[in-house]
Amino acid sequence: MNFVSRADTARSQKEREIPYAQRAKPVRRFSESRVRFLAFSSIFISVLLTTFLANFFFSSRTSVSVLPQSPLDSKNSSLLGHLPYPEAIYADLVDLYPGLKVHKDIVSNLRQMEADATRDGVHLVFLSGFRSIELQDEIFYENKSIRNQIAIERAKVSAPAGYSEHSTGYAIDIGDRYMRETDFEVEFELTPAFRWLKKNAAKYHFVLSFPEGNPQNVGYEPWHWRFEGSVQALKQFERANKKRIEQQLSK
Ligand SMILES: [Zn+2]
Repeated sequence: MNFVSRADTARSQKEREIPYAQRAKPVRRFSESRVRFLAFSSIFISVLLTTFLANFFFSSRTSVSVLPQSPLDSKNSSLLGHLPYPEAIYADLVDLYPGLKVHKDIVSNLRQMEADATRDGVHLVFLSGFRSIELQDEIFYENKSIRNQIAIERAKVSAPAGYSEHSTGYAIDIGDRYMRETDFEVEFELTPAFRWLKKNAAKYHFVLSFPEGNPQNVGYEPWHWRFEGSVQALKQFERANKKRIEQQLSK
């Protein structure tokens, strides 16, 4: 008999001397209760963790989905490509022509631009300047040419109320005095007035708001120009210019 066999025999003998109930059960019972304890603990911890994560996820989701509805956020969001603009203060508006109001800061530049164009043999006509949010709403919903269109199509040719550069008083729609059939038409780009503006408008701080392929995805509007010749005006169009810069950088 070698050493291992002898040790086994000794252990068997010792086990035989201990009553069966005391020999095996306590060990088994301890390990079972330990397993149960561990199982319950892990279930409890899992439930706690799941609840915590679910709450965290749900609350963060909720806050994200609630934010755009808050007044501040909806004010900052674009709508169908158009950016939000406040209505000009009435005291800042002046008549360029009877019935055509613009921001007082753009009057002298407009008049100078008109006079210089005339000197070059080009005759500009100013079609539309400041529009109240109320008027913009009528245009967006009542314009005959777009009445049959859904909002997303209307937005290509007109801004929803509260989202028009015209509300600021800094935007101006320009036509050619001798080619009035091109008023508010893409064909305006073929007129001497447009060619002159394209070359000279920047001198008077006017820029084309919606050139072809503009980052806001608004339809091409060769007649629509905005003034960026003052800090106040630039601030109004900061987001639009940011989009333009981003587009240029991505090219
Ligand atoms: Zn316009």
